[in-house]
Amino acid sequence: MSKVVIIGGGIIGATTAYALLNKGVTDITILERDTIGSGGTGKTAGIIRCHYGVTSISALALYSLSFFEKAKELIGTDIEFEQVGYLVGIGEENLEPFRASLANQRSIGVETDEITPAEAGELWPTAEVSDFATFCLEKRGGYGDGYATVQGLAAYLRTQGVAIKQGAKVAEILTADGATTGVKLVDGTVIEADTVVVAAGAWSVPLLSPLGIELPITPQFVQEVVINPGMDLGAPPVFSDLVSMQYVHLRHGEMLFGNSDGRAISPISDPDVYPSHASNEAIEITAEKAIHRFPGVEDPGVSTTTTGVVDSTPDNNPIISVTDISGLFVAAGMSGHGFKISPGVGRLMADLIVEGDSTIPNVKASDFRLTRFAEGELLLSPYPYVGAVGIR
Ligand SMILES: Cc1cc2nc3c(=O)[nH]c(=O)nc-3n(C[C@H](O)[C@H](O)[C@H](O)COP(=O)(O)OP(=O)(O)OC[C@H]3O[C@@H](n4cnc5c(N)ncnc54)[C@H](O)[C@@H]3O)c2cc1C
Repeated sequence: MSKVVIIGGGIIGATTAYALLNKGVTDITILERDTIGSGGTGKTAGIIRCHYGVTSISALALYSLSFFEKAKELIGTDIEFEQVGYLVGIGEENLEPFRASLANQRSIGVETDEITPAEAGELWPTAEVSDFATFCLEKRGGYGDGYATVQGLAAYLRTQGVAIKQGAKVAEILTADGATTGVKLVDGTVIEADTVVVAAGAWSVPLLSPLGIELPITPQFVQEVVINPGMDLGAPPVFSDLVSMQYVHLRHGEMLFGNSDGRAISPISDPDVYPSHASNEAIEITAEKAIHRFPGVEDPGVSTTTTGVVDSTPDNNPIISVTDISGLFVAAGMSGHGFKISPGVGRLMADLIVEGDSTIPNVKASDFRLTRFAEGELLLSPYPYVGAVGIR
């Protein structure tokens, strides 16, 4: 079978290689310009949940959940999945889309239960929950560690004969007669391949542009704030607060906060150039929301911030697609939610390469086609939430 080159040693490149191996493809090379996990994957908050309005995304997340649960058995490594559950709270204005989305999620097998604010308050004892209309709890959700996961996968892939080259920056994708023939590295080395997968996040854009393939991906600067609660909060579920538009989870006893209203996200021109710390404005917004939501936290203090870049598409959903060039595929534009769906994305990519269509239940390959943007057929949730950025 084919000789495959994957550009990008993030979670998407690694899961694609893993899924190809499971289909019997053995000649696989991953090319990473820096080190494995050095891109968005090493920065992820690692939230794992299936709560999505778009059926295909929810189904990708559900498929992926089984991988995260069984990772030790499948790849021999503890990927540090903390299955503490995933809690979503909404206000009156979102009751209708919320219940419709839950019904849709359940119809494809997602285990999610509606619970009362009082029950949610017991799970998060320090939280103020009186301004929520209702909640749902996904018991199988939680959070993982992107870096541990991609390193665990890379270790496994090496044992299976996958070549992983770090410090190997691709300068050019080579083509002849409308088909890909391989890649050229910045040092001039040519690696031949009849299948090339571009899984290089926001950096996929300049790799494909010289071939006339324009990816509608914008690098976005993301900021998160870590607050030391000054007290033991136990192991509550990851909390998606769609009233204050924030998410929070406890990692090593500290509360990691992110914004869900887009105020801590802004487009940047170069995905390699962004501040290493969150802005004062982002910290102030977080502090204000945190004080409102967690009045029971006794002695909070900002301990650090994290920043990173996400590769956003116009509909905030990934591109997992063939291109006009035979043998050339793209899996990029994860739009800030690529970790939790990554085993599914890798499997779908491998499906496209080997079978030409999706073999994952309830995942329509055409939903993720690159041409949807030019066709004006964006992949949007039928149950959008008022006020939230469009990744639910
Ligand atoms: C702060 C933050 C929080 C997040 N939180 C969550 C979350 O809670 N849950 C969730 O599901 N997702 C989350 N995400 C998103 C998730 O981390 C990403 O969607 C996912 O890691 C993307 O993986 P990737 O493999 O596509 O990209 P990356 O990990 O960026 O990998 C792409 C790789 O390509 C390499 N590369 C680039 N150019 C070249 C080249 N020319 N040649 C060779 N290699 C090249 C890069 O060095 C990089 O390692 C978060 C992201 C950030 C930044």
